[in-house]
Order: sequence, then structure tokens, then C-alpha cells
Amino acid sequence: DSIANQIAAGEVIQRPASVVKELIENSLDAGATHIILSVKDAGRTFIQVIDNGKGMSATDLRMAFERHATSKIRSADDLFSLTTMGFRGEALPSIAAISHIEVKSRREEDELGSLLVISGSKVEKQEMVAAATGTSITVKNIFFNVPARRKFLKSNETERRNIFTEFERIVLVNPDVEFTLIENGVETLHLPKTGLRQRIVQIEGKNTNQQLIEINEETTLGKIYGYIARPEFARKGKVNQFFFVNNRYIRHPYFHRAVTTAFEPLIAANEKPGYYIYFQVDPDTIDVNIHPTKTEVKFENEQALWQILMVTVKESLGKFNAIPTI
Ligand code: ADP
Ligand code: MG
Repeated sequence: DSIANQIAAGEVIQRPASVVKELIENSLDAGATHIILSVKDAGRTFIQVIDNGKGMSATDLRMAFERHATSKIRSADDLFSLTTMGFRGEALPSIAAISHIEVKSRREEDELGSLLVISGSKVEKQEMVAAATGTSITVKNIFFNVPARRKFLKSNETERRNIFTEFERIVLVNPDVEFTLIENGVETLHLPKTGLRQRIVQIEGKNTNQQLIEINEETTLGKIYGYIARPEFARKGKVNQFFFVNNRYIRHPYFHRAVTTAFEPLIAANEKPGYYIYFQVDPDTIDVNIHPTKTEVKFENEQALWQILMVTVKESLGKFNAIPTI
């Protein structure tokens, strides 16, 4: 059973960044307004997420580590809906199977919180303790019992970047949530609650603000909004490219080409346009790959959306005089 747990864990948890993603998504699901992520050694030895969300009762906490103990699946349709996060009751048991995990949680209405300590799926301790409202989860020594996985991890530099990438994708769809990032005991990023534009600026740096051009288009196929970076910015080296659908990050090479097509007259072939583009569509019109680590999504109306996106970006570039008039 513990071997089965470890194998299943490998599906969901591939590296420290996967733990970070699952824990933060749980905190968001719990309605947290402030989330603190703390990592040491690129997450190898220590990952901690503290939230001020709704917390769990002692029973809920224990249940959360039973496989498929999710509170989320209500219908088979939910499996295809991007409105719920995470991988449906797999994350916590999977993390517990391959690490030393300590969780403290308290609901507002409870006087005491509870503490649960699990090591390689084995419950070591559960007791009532004083605790702040919300949940604090500490994951130590990821893959301590799966040497093959541990060996598969990349350099600290790479694992750290993977963590930051997940963090960035999440904070960019939750500007109304405050985030704190602590690395090896030092606070490296603090993002107070704000609006979307300012959240991008918080991440990319102050002088990004004047580089951002808003896009906003509502159609029968859904809403497309967000920001593109002025073409001059493509020349300055550091650009980011993000697509999100229904508040989840996706990769979309086809839509990427719609954006580059719109930018084409304005930038050189080796330059990359920066963009933060958000789609809101009916979940029934997208097909999500069920695997939790995949970020590919198929849209029902892909060709029409390609066209709308391309024209929207082009018009915004023109409207803000980014396109020189002849
Ligand atoms: P899922 O998120 O798919 O339901 P998880 O294994 O990630 O599965 O979590 C299991 C359950 O534990 C969640 O459904 C939720 O009820 C509870 N839970 C996990 N993390 C938190 C948290 N930070 N705050 C409150 N409840 C949580
Ligand atoms: Mg989850």
C-alpha cells in the first residue's frame, strides 16, 4: 500500500514546485487572503505554506490525507471544469507519501486547532494545539523515501526557478490576494493585494507600468483581457508570455502565433512580444487534459478565437500609437 501510494504520488508530485502549486491552490480554495510561501534549498528540504483561509476541523484534517477525500467532485463534469483547482483529492495524500509533513489548522469557530504529523503516509501524531485561524503546512525532505525521484531533481537553480514559475502563474491570476515569498529565511518578495495591472508591475518591476497596453474584448465566445507589452519592450530582453484560461495558466502555441502575427510588423524576427492574456470562456467549450501536470487546453472555437485575439492585439497596438503611422 505504501508502495502504491508512492507510485500514485509520482503522478501528481514530480518536484518541489508541484508541492508548492498544490499547497497554494488549496489555500486559495480555502478562501485565504494572505498566503506565505517559504522554501529552503530550492524546496528540497523545506516547503511551507501558511494561509489565513477557513481551516479544517480535526476530522477534516485527518480526512484530507485519505485518498480521494476531496470535497470537490460533485459531478463527472467537474473533472473537465477549470473552475475547480487541483487534482481532486490526490495532492495531500501524494505529498504525505513521499515526505515528512506537518499540518496545523484551525477553523475560526474552534477554540483549539489540530496538529497532524505524517511521515511517508504513516500518521505519527495527531493532537489538539493552539493555532491561528487558517492552515500551515510544512513539507520536509521531499522524496526522502524515493531515491530515484530525488536523483531526478535538477540543480537548486533550476528547481528554484520551477518554484518561482508556479508561484508567478498563481499570483498573476490572484491579484486580490496578498502573497509573501520567503527563501532560505529571507523575504524575497511581498505582493500586497492589488489590481491586475499593478500585480504585473509588482512582479516585473516598476518601469513595466508604462510598457503595458490594455486589451479587452468581449465576444459571444468569451472574454479576452489583459495586457501586452509595447513593442519597444520586446527589444529589451526580458519579456514574459502568459496565457490563462478561467484563471489557470495554459500553454497555447497556436494562440501564441496569433499574438506574434499581430506584432509582426513592429518587431524583428528574433524579438519576443510580452503578453499577459486572460480568457474567460464557458468551461463546456474547452477540453482540459485531465493530468494535473499538463497545461494544454483545447478550445472548441479555436480558429475563431485565434482571429479575435489577433485583431484585438493589433487594434490595441494601433490605438495606443504603438504602430507608427505612415
Ligand atoms: P483537493 O484540493 O483536490 O480537494 P487535496 O488533497 O489538495 O485535494 O486536499 C484535500 C482536501 O483537504 C481539500 O478538499 C480541502 O477540503 C482540504 N484542505 C487542503 N488544504 C487546505 C487548506 N489550506 N485549508 C483548508 N482546507 C484544506
Ligand atoms: Mg488541492
